[in-house]
Amino acid sequence: MAKKIIITIDGTSSTGKSTLAKRIAKKLGYLYIDSGAMYRALTYYAISNNIISKGFINKEVLINDLSKLEIDFRKGSLSECLEIHLDGLSVENKIRSLKVSDLVSQLAAIDEVRTHMVKIQHSLGQNKGVVMDGRDIGTVVFPKAELKFFLEASAETRAKRRFDELKIIDKEISYEEVFKNINLRDFQDINRSNSPLKKASDAVLINTENLSLVELENEISNHISLVLSNSL
Ligand code: C5P
Repeated sequence: MAKKIIITIDGTSSTGKSTLAKRIAKKLGYLYIDSGAMYRALTYYAISNNIISKGFINKEVLINDLSKLEIDFRKGSLSECLEIHLDGLSVENKIRSLKVSDLVSQLAAIDEVRTHMVKIQHSLGQNKGVVMDGRDIGTVVFPKAELKFFLEASAETRAKRRFDELKIIDKEISYEEVFKNINLRDFQDINRSNSPLKKASDAVLINTENLSLVELENEISNHISLVLSNSL
């Protein structure tokens, strides 16, 4: 049987990481873990419980609640992928709103939040056979992962892709709002002191700007085949 590996996919917002990671995981029979969904779920919880309001985060309450909250991935009803659950309930379709997107990077910069999430991410990857996407997966969470990718594309292209996805669930949303959110999150993710978004030195850099999903998948699959054949 082929050896199982860990594949990390990092990059700025809306570079196509999750779509790609899902397809790769399905093809390999691996677990797909959307690490961003964990930070989004916590943000959704904080908004719903007034722990974050008007941009102010009550860190003391948030950190105290963190250890009591159950954040995990379980089978759900929306797709064949695992869904993010908060205290046993799927919040998969609640965490993609612009409200959550506007606040998530602020909360993801908190040291205690990161320590907590990374612990969960480590346990999810302990048996390998995982494709995990995020911002710090190849640099901090699994620095020894067998294969790492870093995706990039222009802010305009990424905002257009995200806008096309979001307008299906939110008819009121504008391209300008999405563009602003993407730039804000990139700035916050790149400039935070704890686990900033950056390319791991051994990650394969791919610009997704002019690649179709099939072309991107083919390119990634070539790298995977090479690593898997070398690790037999
Ligand atoms: O991947 P997604 O866009 O859903 O991530 C939402 C936010 O969660 C990111 O903008 C970032 O602030 C945070 N995040 C993170 N580390 C990860 C994954 C996501 O800080 N590994």
